[in-house]
Amino acid sequence: MHINDAVFLEDLCPKFRLRQWRKSIHRFTGKSCIYCGKPSESIDHVLPQSQGGLSTTENCVPACLSCNGDKSDENALYWYRKQKFYDPRRAMAIRAWLEGDLRLAIRLLQWANPNFKINQNYEKDESEYKAA
Ligand SMILES: [Zn+2]
Repeated sequence: MHINDAVFLEDLCPKFRLRQWRKSIHRFTGKSCIYCGKPSESIDHVLPQSQGGLSTTENCVPACLSCNGDKSDENALYWYRKQKFYDPRRAMAIRAWLEGDLRLAIRLLQWANPNFKINQNYEKDESEYKAA
C-alpha cells in the first residue's frame, strides 16, 4: 500500500488535485501545526526536498510558518527534540505519520492536545498576545 502511495503528486495531477491534497493534510490535524499546535499555515517536508524528500502525504506535515522556517533543512525529529514546546506524544505522532499510520498520528495529536479541533485555541492565542 505504501509503495503505491509513493508517487509524485505533481506527476499524477494538475494543480487542482494538489490543492485538494494540501487541504486534506491540514484537515488531518484540525489545521494545527504538527510540531507546536499553533495554526498551520504551510506544509513542511519532513525530509527536505533538497535531500530527496518526496511530496507524499507520509513526508508532508502541516506546520506553522515559524516552525517550518526555523526547522529549515534539519532532520525534523532531531530539530523537534531541541524545541521548548517538545512533547513526546507529538514526536510519536510525527513518527507514526512518517510511517503512513495517519490514524495513529492523529490519535496521538489529540492526546497531546485534546482541544485541537476546537476554535478556543485561537481565542487563547489572542488573549496571550494581549497579556504580553
Ligand atoms: Zn509550529
